[in-house]
Amino acid sequence: MEHKLPSLPYPLKALEPGMSTETLQNHHGKHHKIYVEKLNELIKGTKYEYMSLEEIILSAQGPLFNNAAQHWNHSFFWQCLSPDGGGEPTGQLEQLIKNRWKNFEGFKETFTKAATEHFGSGWTWLVEDKPGHLDIITTHDADTPKTKGLKALLTLDVWEHAYYLDYRNARSHYIEAFWGLVNWDFAQKNLQ
Ligand code: MN
Repeated sequence: MEHKLPSLPYPLKALEPGMSTETLQNHHGKHHKIYVEKLNELIKGTKYEYMSLEEIILSAQGPLFNNAAQHWNHSFFWQCLSPDGGGEPTGQLEQLIKNRWKNFEGFKETFTKAATEHFGSGWTWLVEDKPGHLDIITTHDADTPKTKGLKALLTLDVWEHAYYLDYRNARSHYIEAFWGLVNWDFAQKNLQ
């Protein structure tokens, strides 16, 4: 099957000023697009042509794994942001966060620290590691919670290409902006 670049779930300028049109044009329209193109090239004429994206991620290695996982990670990441985002989660997610980190501030601090301190390229994730129990993990490069049997609820891309145009090398400013855009409805939906 041919893999396709998903449309962003909002207009390019919808996340300004936290994330600029230029960043989304590059990040979605170039970086993500190229992962999808490479993935389609790499599967051509192989057994992977007949697999779902998830099956490829769970069985491939090297460049094929990297491009497939980056396609999945980015498709997930766009949905973690919303022009109506920010604030705090409610309902079941709020409760599970409180069970794990006492309060939202404790969660936010731990996630921010993990994202800030992650060395090099990668991703910071809120995951459900066992039923009803949450954790924060970081993964390197293209790696994704799927390969560890963890359910992803929310992610933040901490590759430099995600923030360099808006914040230069200041990853912490980008993370601060993320808290104003975070889509808790999406994270809650992933919990179901
Ligand atoms: Mn990225």
